[in-house]
Amino acid sequence: MCIFCKILDKELSADVVYEDDRILAFKDIHPQAPVHILIIPKEHIISVDHLEDKDKELIGELVLVAKKIAKAKGLSTGYKLAISVGKDGGQEVDHLHLHLLGGKKNYGVISKKTK
Ligand code: 5GP
Ligand code: ZN
Repeated sequence: MCIFCKILDKELSADVVYEDDRILAFKDIHPQAPVHILIIPKEHIISVDHLEDKDKELIGELVLVAKKIAKAKGLSTGYKLAISVGKDGGQEVDHLHLHLLGGKKNYGVISKKTK
């Protein structure tokens, strides 16, 4: 089972900031900004590369949840949303996730190099 599925199963703990029937959001364990939240579907979808037409609504919900969390965290001057896809995209966890970064001015690119 992947790390994020273990978090969903409560086998691993995480600092959860949002949950609904299809989505979970929790703090990144190695934050790259004052606010760094990962938003994931509860369904184990590996990456954007594995999305299908049936997932259209789900991917939209992930972005809307990001917006909701950004508002709740008071990120009124802006934030960054990022998705790593596959090896060259710097994806380390093979369970689709949206990074929400906020609380500073420039975020660069999410990659192994910035960690
Ligand atoms: P990626 O590099 O795949 O785009 O991002 C994976 C993210 O997951 C990284 O920012 C990393 O810090 C975070 N991460 C990896 N393992 C864990 C974990 O066990 N718990 C939490 N909360 N975040 C994790
Ligand atoms: Zn998973």
